[in-house]
Amino acid sequence: MRIGLYPGTFDPVTNGHRDIIRRAMQLVDRLVVAIAINIDKSPLFSIEEREAMMRQMCVDLQENADCELVVTTFDNLLVDCAKVHNASLLIRGLRAVSDFEFEYQMVGMNRYLDPSLETVFLMADAGYQPIASRLVKEVSRLGGDVSEFVSPDVAQALNKKFGRG
Ligand code: ADP
Repeated sequence: MRIGLYPGTFDPVTNGHRDIIRRAMQLVDRLVVAIAINIDKSPLFSIEEREAMMRQMCVDLQENADCELVVTTFDNLLVDCAKVHNASLLIRGLRAVSDFEFEYQMVGMNRYLDPSLETVFLMADAGYQPIASRLVKEVSRLGGDVSEFVSPDVAQALNKKFGRG
């Protein structure tokens, strides 16, 4: 059984993340989506809120899929989280060149910490490439429409966070 781990902050989960999850589900028998508690990143949404939004998105993705989707949270080393879940593949999404430097360092460090864990990079569909949680939050905060980039539930949660609706 091939188990993949897709870690991220998911603050909030976007259609870009969704596309990566959908693609990763074709590669593994079980995909563990691991939400980093990441207090030092000062997330807009609490870990409970991020988890609830992710679970909601996964209900739809799980329908008729052979791959089992599991949503969890973690606050320890990524390699330890992978061990707990018996994951042998680490899934990361790649956008433009800007993601590369950070991801390159992360592969090196994770490989040092656990050489048995292989990292696989997936690219979202071209239309989802520019989507970043950081930008979605910024646009929503300033009153812009983000319904093209996130699910209706997430769009509503953002509106609520920024005192609308
Ligand atoms: P992190 O704090 O780990 O970067 P994110 O929630 O921002 O957490 O992203 C999780 C993963 O999803 C990362 O590998 C990131 O590169 C990837 N990702 C985010 N948005 C997109 C997108 N639009 N297309 C492809 N990959 C993406």
